[in-house]
Amino acid sequence: MAAKMAAEETKQTALGGKVALVTGATRGIGAAIAAELGRVGATVVGIATSTAGAERISAQLAEQKIAGRGAVLDVTDSAAVADLVAQTTADYGAPTVLVNNAGITRDTLLLRMSAEQWSEVIDTNLNAVYRLCRACLRGMTRARWGRIINIGSVVGGMGNAGQANYAASKAAVAGFSRSLAREVGGRGITVNTVAPGFIDTDMTRALDPPQREAMLAAIPAARFGEPQEVAALVAFLASNSAAYITGETIQLNGGMYMA
Ligand code: NDP
Repeated sequence: MAAKMAAEETKQTALGGKVALVTGATRGIGAAIAAELGRVGATVVGIATSTAGAERISAQLAEQKIAGRGAVLDVTDSAAVADLVAQTTADYGAPTVLVNNAGITRDTLLLRMSAEQWSEVIDTNLNAVYRLCRACLRGMTRARWGRIINIGSVVGGMGNAGQANYAASKAAVAGFSRSLAREVGGRGITVNTVAPGFIDTDMTRALDPPQREAMLAAIPAARFGEPQEVAALVAFLASNSAAYITGETIQLNGGMYMA
């Protein structure tokens, strides 16, 4: 009786009964997104590249009393992506909320950029979005409900010296999202891009102090963003209240770039 009441209560929350797949959930923005989607009722499968990372995600979800688990996946491995989505569907039901958050940088000026630095970034930040969307679309189409939220970047709009590979991948994700939004809009599936500015995570902590200072000076809000601020927007886009928002790129950058 108590379990039934708890299940009913969960269904009444924003994402109760939904299964959410979040890539890059070990830390930074992805960890905050996994926690927030879980807080509003979703069962969460959070992706890590290592077993230790997946175990940490499982422990964090359990601590927050969120259903789901961590899972190991390299988003550049097409066969593994298909397997992970099939396994998630078997364990919990088809994921109908997909957050493509995993991302990397390999910064350098173009003249010095190796073919590997170019391809690694495109494969992780862009090709993986194609792979995961394709793998999840069938389930969303069957459910006639779906939410795809791709994490882009302010750099995809502005450009940034030393990040031609990264900017290309993030701008492409926004174009991809607009196209897919047009393909699947009639099936209750929305596809949006969230484009954060500078958020306080490992990725931006890796910048040297002069770079951080220069960036701070360009932000009207006069601070870096917090991962939770990105997570709150993602949770809204995943909710029923956002059903009429699709194909958008939503900027979240403290005013540093007003598109
Ligand atoms: P972090 O560097 O803190 O974390 C990156 C995450 O991506 C980790 O969970 C990592 O997993 C995962 N990841 C990397 N490569 C792979 C792979 N091949 N397969 C699966 N997972 C992988 O990043 P942030 O939290 O800062 O950024 C998250 C997203 O937000 C990225 O797409 C980034 O481009 C974007 N973004 C970030 C901004 C910022 O200021 N921080 C600004 C704008 C956009 P693991 O821990 O297992 O290595």
